Amino acid sequence: MKAEFPKTYNSQEVEGRWYQWWESKGYFRADAKSDRPAFVMVMPPPNVTGSLHMGHMLNDTVQDVIARRKRMQGFNTLWLPGMDHAGIATQNVVERELRKEGLSRHDLGREKFVERVWQWKEQYGGIILKQIRRIGASCDWSRERFTFDAGLSRAVRDVFVRLYEEGLIYRGKRLINWCPRCHTALSDLETIYEPVDSKLYYIKYPLKGRENAFIEVATTRPETMLGDTAVAVNPNDDRYKKYRGESVILPLLNREIPFVEDDVVDPEFGTGVVKVTPAHDPADFEIGQRHNLSQISVIDEDAKITADGGPYQGLDRYQARKRILEDLEAQHLLARTESLKHNIGQCQRCHTVVEPLLSIQWFVRVTPLAEEAIAAVESGRTEFVPPNFANTYFQWMRNIRDWCISRQLWWGHRIPAWYCDDCGEMVISRTDVTRCAKCASSKVRQDPDVLDTWFSSALWPFSTLGWPDETDDLKAFYPTTLLVTAYEIIFFWVARMMMFGLKFMNDVPFKAVYITGIIRDAERQKMSKSKGNVVDPLDICDRFGTDAVRFALARMGAPGADIAWSEELIGSYRAFATKIWNAARFIFRYIDETDRLPSLVELKQSDLSLVDRWILSRLSRAIEDVNRSVEQYNLHEGARHIYSFFWHEFCDWYLEMIKLHPERSKPTLLFVFETALRLLHPFMPFITEELWQNLPHRGESIVIAPYPEFDPELVNDRAEAETDLIQQIVAKVRNIRAEMNVDAKQLVPVRVATSDPELTNLLSDAREYIFKLAQVSQMEIVPQLSGDKLAAQAVAGGLALEIPLAGLIDVEAERARLKKALERAELEIARVERTLSNPSFVDRAPKEVVEENRRRLAEYQDQAAKLAEGLKRLE
Ligand SMILES: [Zn+2]
Ligand SMILES: [Zn+2]
Repeated sequence: MKAEFPKTYNSQEVEGRWYQWWESKGYFRADAKSDRPAFVMVMPPPNVTGSLHMGHMLNDTVQDVIARRKRMQGFNTLWLPGMDHAGIATQNVVERELRKEGLSRHDLGREKFVERVWQWKEQYGGIILKQIRRIGASCDWSRERFTFDAGLSRAVRDVFVRLYEEGLIYRGKRLINWCPRCHTALSDLETIYEPVDSKLYYIKYPLKGRENAFIEVATTRPETMLGDTAVAVNPNDDRYKKYRGESVILPLLNREIPFVEDDVVDPEFGTGVVKVTPAHDPADFEIGQRHNLSQISVIDEDAKITADGGPYQGLDRYQARKRILEDLEAQHLLARTESLKHNIGQCQRCHTVVEPLLSIQWFVRVTPLAEEAIAAVESGRTEFVPPNFANTYFQWMRNIRDWCISRQLWWGHRIPAWYCDDCGEMVISRTDVTRCAKCASSKVRQDPDVLDTWFSSALWPFSTLGWPDETDDLKAFYPTTLLVTAYEIIFFWVARMMMFGLKFMNDVPFKAVYITGIIRDAERQKMSKSKGNVVDPLDICDRFGTDAVRFALARMGAPGADIAWSEELIGSYRAFATKIWNAARFIFRYIDETDRLPSLVELKQSDLSLVDRWILSRLSRAIEDVNRSVEQYNLHEGARHIYSFFWHEFCDWYLEMIKLHPERSKPTLLFVFETALRLLHPFMPFITEELWQNLPHRGESIVIAPYPEFDPELVNDRAEAETDLIQQIVAKVRNIRAEMNVDAKQLVPVRVATSDPELTNLLSDAREYIFKLAQVSQMEIVPQLSGDKLAAQAVAGGLALEIPLAGLIDVEAERARLKKALERAELEIARVERTLSNPSFVDRAPKEVVEENRRRLAEYQDQAAKLAEGLKRLE
């Protein structure tokens, strides 16, 4: 039949055909009213500004393989997709656009700017969701969510108000990380620390009331001295005990500041005396709290010196540093300068050096929330895959600090706090406030700040299901089953979802967290735009086929393990897809319109040949292995088992062996191929649907066909052992043919030694396979081998066999060829051995070069042994 079926596998053509149809059929839609067991995942929402990178492709492949299998197994499967409004990232993108027009967000004003961001979102946002469809992700698009949706925004407000009412959200003046360029507070996680070359300046501070007496303090940031309110020493530092109770005069500003003693001061650092600037350094802030020191902010939100900086007011922080150093030098107060490498915090988004500033911000008191979240992982209610990532989680959770959640941005969920200009009252409210509850004034202003983007992401597993309303979805799908995410966002996201899920839903948000590795380049370097080693997943899918890329990612990515990128490997999985395509074409040759898929019962009742019983047994084992592996989230193992079954057993052996009796094996052939396609479908959804639709099948789509289940009745140890013996004999005969250079078309006689009547029967029954697959003309079964000098011998599955070579090859010419080749190999062995026995070479040459030589030596030795063996046969 299928004469019109394309000869060559064209992945782009096949992949363009199915997704829309699947979606339009509603196969990916979950049903909140279903009484089938639920399987639920929420997709980590990509940024609305994002486009697909290899990390997403890996993450989505893992989720899709798992979701498709569960759906086929009959679970009420929900994979909920969506996007994150990505506060600072999106605001930066739109600000860049404005800059091209010569505008800033301030030129537009807040309302117009936010409108503009929405416009941008409608026009350009969400490219990534189309790309996710392109790679086959079977998400329930009818439930797509956006963290800035009306519903999700209501959830955000509700959480804020509840936490505030319980005293778990507060407003306070704290030292926070400030980005002077983005003009916003940053959480500790949004600040990245990188080592930079810097200088340590030793400054002399005059001692009050003593002539020409100084102490030296060391600092990397001289400009902050304008805000010093003390100098501190370690209480156990004998050098400075004499100054207890005294004070120093702050140079340049001539302010008197006290000596204080504090345990955190390291006597080994610099001179053992440190300056204390509570308003601009986190450690100093703490010292200041303990000693009741005043906080003087000398650097403002633009990183410029404030009025408290006296003559330096208005200077940028780096200009101020320069001027201060010059002035100190002129007054002979700069003792010396040392070079130093130390970590400086930068804004994660724009890499501007972060300034620690005192600022009024909103915080979540997380310690009480963290306790339950720690306990939930300790008790196994949520497990990490692989389990060692739980340690990463514990470490952070046990040292957690209050979370600064306010951001000085315009794009995001605005803080639901209103201030009365008349009486100063602050109201926290779920609904917008227009009138002061205390004095009835209408002069109320909403807090200008917005919430950290991760605040809304932290609610994702339940806000997306309709919370705070008690929806059917919430009842049916919370807690979710599995979260698949990357290592880097365990703190940003996983930990916070755990805290908020337990707090507001009284249950963990997911039962397992699968951590994916990172895709690195072939040299195991991180992929980055600046290195130019980034791989575009859609380009790769166009070139190799999405199915091949998905299969490769599943095959290479063990949980938590990084993947070294290899186009060669992707190519080998495209070859796998082609192999399956060609297997289907082979099958099409034998079937016509009247053929239908046999049921398992029919098959079991029919008279099956040895190879049919064998392939059914192997298929059952493959099904068992794949199900066990994928159930334990070891997709790489599952992929390996399918590959090995399909390629090495079904294609390499079964399709060859049934060429003898295609008609007899047809029902088994159809049954096995159809089952194997279903087994493979979660990994390679497109090609499997294409082939399944063209072959006899039951049902509308492979997407909703049942996933194969292990059937112990099909396991047949005897058929496996017998077929294995035949295959070994064939393999050995093929080996001898190759080694002895027997012409490919030349048939050979074989003698097999056995006196076991059962084996004799088996070999007689199986002789046609051996004849066909190993080009054998006749097979003699003898009690013992002849000992014929001119015969090549081998052992296959415990049986001795031989091929008489007389008349098959030109013995003289073959002997000469082997001799010459052996001499060449021996020369090479001697040469490499000389090199390796030279101690100066072994010691000095690079390790890889020495290894390469050792490897070559072993190869030549192996070759020589085989050649000598061949020669012996011809003696
Ligand atoms: Zn920044
Ligand atoms: Zn009021």
